Amino acid sequence: MRTTILGYPRIGAHRELKFATERYWAGRADAAELEATAATLRRTVWTELRDAGLDTIPSNTFSLYDHVLDTSVMVDAVPARYRDLDGLDRYFAMARGTADRPPLEMTKWFDTNYHYIVPELEPGTRFRLADGGRAKPLAEYLEARELGIETRPVLVGPLTYLMLAKAAPGTPDASAAPDVSATPGAFGGFVPLDLLDRLVEVYAELLERLAGAGARWVQLDEPVLAGDLGERETEALARAYRRLGGLPSRPRIMVAAYFGAVAPGPLAELARTDVEAIALDFVAGPGNLDAVASAGGLSRKTVVAGVVDGRNVWRADLARARSTYAVLLGLAGRVELSSSCSLMHVPVDLGTEPSLAPDVRERLAFARQKVAELVTLAAGLRSGVPPTAPAAPPASGTTPPVEDGPGRSDRKVRFAAQQARLGLPDLATTTIGSFPQTPEIRRARADHKAGRVDDAAYTEAMRAEIARVIALQEELGLDVLVHGEAERNDMVQYFAERLDGYAATENGWVQSYGTRCVRPPILHGDVSRPAPMTVGWTAFAQSLTGRPVKGMLTGPVTMLAWSFVRDDQPLAATARQVALALRAEIADLEAAGIAIVQVDEPALRELLPLRAADQPAYLEWAVAAFRLATSGAADATQIHTHMCYSEFGEIITAIAALDADVTSVEAARSHMELVADLDAAGYANGIGPGVYDIHSPRVPPAEEIEANLRRALRAVPAGRLWVNPDCGLKTRAYPETRAALANMVSAARAVRATL
Ligand code: GLN
Ligand code: ZN
Repeated sequence: MRTTILGYPRIGAHRELKFATERYWAGRADAAELEATAATLRRTVWTELRDAGLDTIPSNTFSLYDHVLDTSVMVDAVPARYRDLDGLDRYFAMARGTADRPPLEMTKWFDTNYHYIVPELEPGTRFRLADGGRAKPLAEYLEARELGIETRPVLVGPLTYLMLAKAAPGTPDASAAPDVSATPGAFGGFVPLDLLDRLVEVYAELLERLAGAGARWVQLDEPVLAGDLGERETEALARAYRRLGGLPSRPRIMVAAYFGAVAPGPLAELARTDVEAIALDFVAGPGNLDAVASAGGLSRKTVVAGVVDGRNVWRADLARARSTYAVLLGLAGRVELSSSCSLMHVPVDLGTEPSLAPDVRERLAFARQKVAELVTLAAGLRSGVPPTAPAAPPASGTTPPVEDGPGRSDRKVRFAAQQARLGLPDLATTTIGSFPQTPEIRRARADHKAGRVDDAAYTEAMRAEIARVIALQEELGLDVLVHGEAERNDMVQYFAERLDGYAATENGWVQSYGTRCVRPPILHGDVSRPAPMTVGWTAFAQSLTGRPVKGMLTGPVTMLAWSFVRDDQPLAATARQVALALRAEIADLEAAGIAIVQVDEPALRELLPLRAADQPAYLEWAVAAFRLATSGAADATQIHTHMCYSEFGEIITAIAALDADVTSVEAARSHMELVADLDAAGYANGIGPGVYDIHSPRVPPAEEIEANLRRALRAVPAGRLWVNPDCGLKTRAYPETRAALANMVSAARAVRATL
């Protein structure tokens, strides 16, 4: 009975890595200091895991920025524009760009909130083991061994690496091949998977070197196995692991498939290779038990059973873990116990949360506690003593049935009622909600939280800020105003702090990307709204102006996506509870005279299941939750929504089904194609394709915005077209915000004049 984990947080219990890296970037620390912090963090993790009694300890789970970027550097997949740099300069240039070269793209790691740096490959990419005998996994293996700790180096598997890569810009694109059913790669089109054989040779060299250094095991992460694999990918999987499995000199290989269940086909392929162990996720993929049974062929392999949730903060159900273990014993040669995936997706230590309520705290386990759970579980299995049950979650009050009422009228009726009330022009101008968060605003919030500033003074400061933002918008001539969200630290945490059933942590940081960490709130019980959450600020803003002020709420899906959510009831049920709280908030906003409410759902795409077969059920409850939140609104109340990402493909029908009166989307960078797509999906309401990119301080010239608007007008009539930036302005500064919005308003007026 052995225990391991698939990975551990790399940022440090107090975000030491973030601070050290940022000091280095700012020129306040040199490379040696950064490396010293990094080495301390690695040593701390290894020794802690050993002292906790874990049997096998992973290494190479540390990264200065991202483990996929580390892999690109390791195999020398460095695009030409960075090649004149070396070492840390090159590494951080790829991650973050420099004054004269853009960074590599960054995107979400599967359905988590971690972002990786996307490899950029082309047909001519020549992989090689860049640092040879000093390659990072080898160096970290040896570093741990110096400390007397034997580890299992963790690598991104070759299939996953290539499937997460993109073809370099300008590379002939296989998806543009004339016959879409043809094998990608035919017709001169290129997909990164074409490079598999070459990449596998680099892994082969690395494995041989690891074996030479004495490594007994290596872990190859292949989370793509939890998604849909086509025939070509399954064949690539088999080819890669037949080759690596057949190496004469290599460590034993554990292939880790996590974030869902593996389909029996690919699992059977893997079982036919010589790899010694397969790690499976029995938390996100309970279907893995069936997959193991039906794939067969595992009777001579080790199954590493991921029974402790690596992505959520709840204590494990040890009894259930034991029964999973018992079933597996009959199917596999050996069974070991593990986390379901790397623990990098949960905070480091519950010990740094002294002020969580005891009844919540006793139900939680962060990374350090999860390691202890595995050790306890194994000890219990050895001794035969049954585990004590985890603290039971509070009984869930059933969500009261909602009198859905007649719901909202047909869109045409709504449009007429809203126009009669609001009288907005064609190409109405607005913003997405937040205005720049100045140092003064942040200081006021921090002072209030720390008790240095009392409630009255804080309210005064926020009201003064709201008054400034309203005056600015009037001066700029915007049609629909916002209060600016100065009081919000974060669009989810603000609401979490005001809803019952949610708790905030003090130090529960999780890496989002590079040095950016987030602190997701914990949704632990039944959600309800003890009091209005936004009405005071919004009504105050409205009292200052004759123009409509748009209320601003965070939607139910986003409230779940950016939190740790209870797992004792379906997400759909929790989403309903959040939706009901929002529904009550909208009613209160209406009663306070607010005519427009925006319900943001930027995370709608993020929770989309990895498997196509699971997607319709998710989209159904996600759309239902949004509609439950908004369908109590009067016809004359205009409901807006906002989403911000550029790949809308799979969810376009769902966006249309939300049936918001106005939908604003990040589209400045996807050239308005989206407008046409939404139209094709039957969406006939208002649409606000972002007319400029707020992610950079660049001020878009009015002519450029005009051109964007004219392009959009080819797809959508002027009465339905809204004019807005592509996301909130909170990360921008005032000078560029003022200039950009002025250009946006004048562009809208210029186009309006020609209608
Ligand atoms: N209303 C939010 C803002 O403007 C929306 C943020 C988002 O889309 N992520 O900041
Ligand atoms: Zn946005």
